Amino acid sequence: MQALKQKIQAEGIVLSEQVLKVDAFLNHQIDPVLMQQIGHEFAQRFAGQGISKIVTIEASGIAPAVMAGLELGVPVIFARKYQSLTLKDDLLTSKVFSFTKQTESTIAISAKHLTAADHVLVIDDFLANGHAANALIEVIQQAGASIAGIGVVIEKSFQSGRAQLDAQGFRVESLARISSLADGQVSFLE
Ligand code: 5GP
Repeated sequence: MQALKQKIQAEGIVLSEQVLKVDAFLNHQIDPVLMQQIGHEFAQRFAGQGISKIVTIEASGIAPAVMAGLELGVPVIFARKYQSLTLKDDLLTSKVFSFTKQTESTIAISAKHLTAADHVLVIDDFLANGHAANALIEVIQQAGASIAGIGVVIEKSFQSGRAQLDAQGFRVESLARISSLADGQVSFLE
């Protein structure tokens, strides 16, 4: 997706060979016009697949997921990372290791929002080693729902997540695929 790649080149900050900071448009300040284009692109790529729900993880997956949900006309569920007094009963949970915080936490979705009748599109901001995506897949499978695919805004293709998801047979659609962050430069795969 050309507009996204241009935005990454213009406003992304390479923090290390492993980490890209995109706080200017995705992870802190959000560019709504770009998010709308991202939602449109996901909706086009997954059109006609019978998707009934989108599942993402708080916080940075929510903006692109909501825009995709708007385009596809389906509800968006975000997995919560923290204990909540209002999220108590019938929880589907999974453990996730955070790439950015380097800590393990539990994510949870209320079982009442996801059933075996659902066909789910998973959306997240980044794909690195696949921990977040795999935790989401686990909670969706606990509900007995099926998975249409995984939509990723920014994939770091040099890390292991993409290959793992491909090996499991999932359809992965990444809007920007980064082949390297070496020498402070962002290089794209395609
Ligand atoms: P994974 O679970 O695939 O290892 O990492 C994906 C998650 O870690 C995403 O949900 C995202 O929040 C965070 N993440 C991974 N790599 C980066 C990165 O380079 N920059 C930012 N801002 N977040 C990242």
